[in-house]
Amino acid sequence: MSDTPMMRQYREAKAACPDAVLLFRMGDFYELFHEDARTAARVLHLTLTSREKGENAIPMAGFPYHQLESYLAKLIHAGLRAAICEQVEDPKQAKGLVRREVTRVVTAGTLVEDALLDPTESNYLAAVAPGDTAGLAWIELSTGRFQACDVPAARLADELARIAPSELLWPEGQEAPRGDRWRVTLRPAWSFGASAAAETISRHFQTAGVEGFGFDDAASPAVRAAGAALAYLAETQRTSLEHIERIEPYAASDVLQIDAATRRSLEITRTMREGRRDGSLLAMIDRTVTAMGSRLLAEWLSQPLTDVLQIRARLDAVAELLDSEGLTADLRERLSGVYDLERLLARVSTGRATPRDLSFLARTLRLLPALKARLTSRSSGLLQRLERELDLCEEVRAKLDGALVDDCPLLSREGGFIRPEFSPELDNLRDLAAGGKQWIARYQAQEVERTGISSLKVGFNKVFGYYLEISHLHSAKVPPEYIRKQTVKNAERYVTPELKEYEEKVLAADERGKELEYELFTQLRDAVAGELRRIQGSARVLAQLDVLASLAELARRQGYCRPEIVADPVLEIHDGRHPVLEAILPAGAFVPNDTQSGGEQPLLLITGPNMAGKSTYIRQVALISLLGQMGSFVPARAAKLGVADRIFARVGASDELSRGQSTFMVEMTEAARILNTATSQSLVILDEIGRGTSTYDGVSLAWAIVEHLHDRIGCRTFFATHYHELTELDQSLSGVVNLNVAVREWEDQVVFLHKIVPGAADRSYGIHVARLAGVPRAVYRRAENILKKLEAEHGSQAASGRRKPKLRATVDGALQLTLFEPAEHPVADKLRQVDLDGTTPLEALRILKEFQEELAPK
Ligand code: ADP
Ligand code: MG
Repeated sequence: MSDTPMMRQYREAKAACPDAVLLFRMGDFYELFHEDARTAARVLHLTLTSREKGENAIPMAGFPYHQLESYLAKLIHAGLRAAICEQVEDPKQAKGLVRREVTRVVTAGTLVEDALLDPTESNYLAAVAPGDTAGLAWIELSTGRFQACDVPAARLADELARIAPSELLWPEGQEAPRGDRWRVTLRPAWSFGASAAAETISRHFQTAGVEGFGFDDAASPAVRAAGAALAYLAETQRTSLEHIERIEPYAASDVLQIDAATRRSLEITRTMREGRRDGSLLAMIDRTVTAMGSRLLAEWLSQPLTDVLQIRARLDAVAELLDSEGLTADLRERLSGVYDLERLLARVSTGRATPRDLSFLARTLRLLPALKARLTSRSSGLLQRLERELDLCEEVRAKLDGALVDDCPLLSREGGFIRPEFSPELDNLRDLAAGGKQWIARYQAQEVERTGISSLKVGFNKVFGYYLEISHLHSAKVPPEYIRKQTVKNAERYVTPELKEYEEKVLAADERGKELEYELFTQLRDAVAGELRRIQGSARVLAQLDVLASLAELARRQGYCRPEIVADPVLEIHDGRHPVLEAILPAGAFVPNDTQSGGEQPLLLITGPNMAGKSTYIRQVALISLLGQMGSFVPARAAKLGVADRIFARVGASDELSRGQSTFMVEMTEAARILNTATSQSLVILDEIGRGTSTYDGVSLAWAIVEHLHDRIGCRTFFATHYHELTELDQSLSGVVNLNVAVREWEDQVVFLHKIVPGAADRSYGIHVARLAGVPRAVYRRAENILKKLEAEHGSQAASGRRKPKLRATVDGALQLTLFEPAEHPVADKLRQVDLDGTTPLEALRILKEFQEELAPK
């Protein structure tokens, strides 16, 4: 057995893609053998059987061919790759063994099936050519979008976090960066080389080089990475990839830089703990009505702009859409009928489109004229441009409309999708087939009459074609010219020469009709493929329109305002709100706050008790800036935002529980990156930095970090801390402003007002928070007593957690810091109080003994 021709065929296919699970098509099944079968049993819960018995037994598992997608989904989800080995000739025509070939290798980064993709999320394959300047390329096979850039090694991880690819190609022999989102696929190092890239790229694009795409250097790391990605696709997809029609150079300098830690802390597209889209800023602002729009919105939010004019152009468009409520409602209504053109076009060019896909394309194209008409005479330059760029693609549309019926089937080889009167030849064949069917109906009636068997029926099956069925009851009346073909329960089946003659006509006409329809289908598909670029352009316009209308809708629903965008690093927000928290809280419950930073006083230090709203406040500032720079209105009454070149946000270790590494180390590494890369144009959000270590270390580090940001960088900084010691900084650093969160004490309750007010906080209300958190009454009562006692003994400062650091001015005016006085032992105080003049030596000895006892360890 193991050496049958088929198993040899299997082994060859397997050897060609050893790192993939091989799905071997056998008739109506995909079969897996050997180790793959065991894997399938484990991952897909298929029953493990065996081919052959005894010592030749080969483990085997399989599933019906029509379940391919759902099993592919499971394999990919389990982190595996799947090679699909199809029968590439008709078994009926095969001489001997059917030819089989691996037609495609499916991996996480190369999915194109709608069923395996989330319509609202891009699915990227990325490739990296590592180096001091690394090359990075990323491509979405399901839409054909292909981008590349050079990136300094230190920023590679941040760019990967922005793109969040699901698969990362990396040269063999070098250690690949790890990430939660991507699986690493190692590729031969030479495939990242300049000459391999040049060859792959010129073969694919039929161009002499990459200069035409805007890459100056044909051997740059970006181009090498792009070549490696393209070669991988060619190898795994084995089909036309014409929808990938250019490589866009990505210019990081035009984009607000957001590093990986910041993305995580600000929960821009994913939440910090669960890593889910729900609960993120993206999920909150997404009001798009198309899948393409939803993906583009995620892109805009992941890479906000830095160019004032570009940002204003988007804001103008949003403002105009917001003002014209009727227009926007109408646009959104029409857009909601738009199909996912980007992914559809990818299926067209990879030869996987169905008749239904084409009819959806036609339906979408039909919406364009009205959309275009609605966009005329707009004043926003961006809307005008979209109007101009919206190509109606009328020729393709007319072709599709004329050819396809309204409800097209999924299968292209079964016919039934071409409109009557489109092709006279097809109409003819259809009439023939239909006429044959009528003849058969008449024939049945005639034979019933002639034989007197009222239950005689004409039936059809695949094996015998048309037959006459007569129940055993009437076997005596069967005419002699009937030819018996088959016995079934209770009946016999017969054929007659007349019946066979018509059958041939019908079947042949049917068959030819289907073939013709398939031919017409491929012609239509090619016609669409021929207009790929134009339709892609319109798809892009629709996506942008959807995003802009979605931002207008967001602004209207949530009461956002248009921010004033300026180049100077200032920040003025009136009644700013946290976009996500505001939407979660009951209407009106969120307390808005003002913000003023930049200029002489860029560094804001926010102190206050736990749960007061410090984190919320400083994050809302970052989120508002982010939204403003992507071209969105912002949750505030008014805002003036100076464009930031980078936004950094860090959360102290203990606020971020999920990470396994030495949290303090991580915290400091991330803090170091800010200190090394922030500029005066940056915006820095630091939340409880220094928490991951002992108090002395933590507060010292926090202190030094604030000093550095203030003295050396001078960027807009928001620092939330529960180290009250830091509030002293405003005395030595002119750019520091203290803020705290208002608290009202009422009877023995404490109410957090969530209102940011000037000045430093002076109590931490820890016990109050403990009570809110459900600490048992006995415990917090006892804590209150202890606190009272401490307050009585040491003065209220110690008890409130506000032990003043001692600041001493040195000669040159610089400040030195001694953080804490050592806590004084009660004995010291007693010692001070001893009246030596009125004490006898004996009494003195007794007091000494007392002190000794008090000091002795208990
Ligand atoms: P802190 O960082 O000071 O410990 P947080 O910012 O985490 O406090 O806020 C704690 C809770 O207080 C939030 O989960 C929210 O429920 C509430 N809160 C914070 N800011 C506001 C606000 N401006 N308006 C209403 N509720 C708020
Ligand atoms: Mg906090």
